[in-house]
Amino acid sequence: LLEAQKADSRDEHTPRFSKGVELGPDGKPCRTCTSSSEWKAMFKSAKIPSKTPAVTTSPLAIADRTDCPPDIEQLGRASWTLLHSITAAYPSNPSPAKQTETRDFLSLFSKLYPCHTCASDFQTWLKEGRNAPRVSSREEFGRWMCEAHNAVNVKLGKEKFDCDRWEERWRTGWKD
Ligand code: FAD
Repeated sequence: LLEAQKADSRDEHTPRFSKGVELGPDGKPCRTCTSSSEWKAMFKSAKIPSKTPAVTTSPLAIADRTDCPPDIEQLGRASWTLLHSITAAYPSNPSPAKQTETRDFLSLFSKLYPCHTCASDFQTWLKEGRNAPRVSSREEFGRWMCEAHNAVNVKLGKEKFDCDRWEERWRTGWKD
């Protein structure tokens, strides 16, 4: 799909980038920074030429497939699953070396996260003094991750998760 866009980049058939479509540092639409609905809307508003080079299936049909690169939400859900699962597997009494590795991981994660706008906001959040990773025990780290996730929930206008229940959600399963 992106190849097709590249091929068409200078003609009138190029999909218009609607407001919700984030561009990457290369100036092209960033799939991992954009929701599926915005991504599809970009193609719905485009005139697809009948002889688009290298495209044998309509771009809209391609956008409906499920085995495609993740959008911002799929990437987010998968990432939070990994991050909370890391806290669930974290030791109750981690060694100093483990704590250092964990802080290093979070720092690198915030720099490498593929949605660059999310990564930039997450780095800013991490730098606020009170948000420094707390990794001296599983309980502390699990709560800290819950608070990190809640900061994104609040930014997106979603409800906060009850951090007293992080362990039930991610480690033990629900009590009730
Ligand atoms: P998710 O928020 O992905 O949550 C998955 C599940 O985790 C939920 O179903 C719930 O059971 C559980 N959960 C929810 N909150 C908590 C919590 N506080 N603690 C423990 N468990 C919880 N998206 C954007 O649009 N813009 C951004 O700037 C952005 N930044 C992100 C930064 C990071 C570091 C990450 C990992 C993701 C970011 N995302 C961002 C993605 C966003 O957070 C969501 O993952 C995405 O919107 C999908 O949301 P969802 O409602 O399916 O559930």
